[in-house]
This record gives sequence, structure tokens and C-alpha cells, in this order.
Amino acid sequence: MTLEQQLILLAHIQFTARHFIALRVTLEKLIELIAYSIGTAAPDADQIRNFLIKESTQKTLESEWETALWRSADRNQSWRLICLAVTADPEVAKRLLARRPPSPDCCAFCWQDEKGFTDALKPELDIYNNPVSGVHLHRQCSRPWHLMRALVARN
Ligand SMILES: [Zn+2]
Repeated sequence: MTLEQQLILLAHIQFTARHFIALRVTLEKLIELIAYSIGTAAPDADQIRNFLIKESTQKTLESEWETALWRSADRNQSWRLICLAVTADPEVAKRLLARRPPSPDCCAFCWQDEKGFTDALKPELDIYNNPVSGVHLHRQCSRPWHLMRALVARN
């Protein structure tokens, strides 16, 4: 795949994450959504699949495209696509930080349920290293969560 094709794919993976905010789907469904987003110029499904499952793709998405992509540990081995973009508005951040998901099995940032696979989530620790009540986060989601904490703390 050319560098240009890779950039197009990265941009459309990010676009899909922003559109859906948090997705839990099969790899096939994910490939379909991304191909649909690209349109007629989309690479074939196998090329998209190979690109998505590469660890380097997932690292690049997380560090440069505000997007988390990983295969979860659940029975169905579903895939997660999570938008890691953070609001610039401290009031919105404050509201999001105060929200709690319906169950402690859910990530406080993306609200995806990890029922039965809570190893996937880690408690948020305060500055004294005590767990913050009701806040469990995916590794990938803890960075944007802390960015929101920092935003609120500065304002
Ligand atoms: Zn999460």
C-alpha cells in the first residue's frame, strides 16, 4: 500500500471514530464502514483488514489521530473504535468528568461495557494514588480523561 493510501485510510478511520464516538463491532463490519467512508477509491477489504490489524497502525492512530483501535478480550473478540478527541471547553469537560456510566464495568470515558472482562479497565487514581470512586478506564481512554482533568484544573 502506498503512503498516500495509508494516509487516506488513517483519515477515514479517524472520521469514522468521530462519527460514531465509540464503536464495538466485528472486524468485518469495521472494514465495511471504513470502505463506505472512503467510497469508490477504497482499497479492497483484505488490504483494509491487513492495515487495521497491524500494531503499528493502532499505535499511529492513538498517538497522532486521536483514535483508539483494538481487538477486545471478550468472547466475540469484537473490535473497538473509540474517538479520543477531547473538548476544548472546560465547562463541557467538567460535565463529562462528572458523568458516571450505568455500571462500574463500563469505561468512564467511552462508556463501553467490559462486563466480565474488567481486567480491560483500570481505576483512575487521584494524586494520593487512591482510586477515584466509580471511575474505571481503558488504557487508551485514560489519556483523554486526564487531559480533561487538566483542562478543568487550569480553568
Ligand atoms: Zn474507554
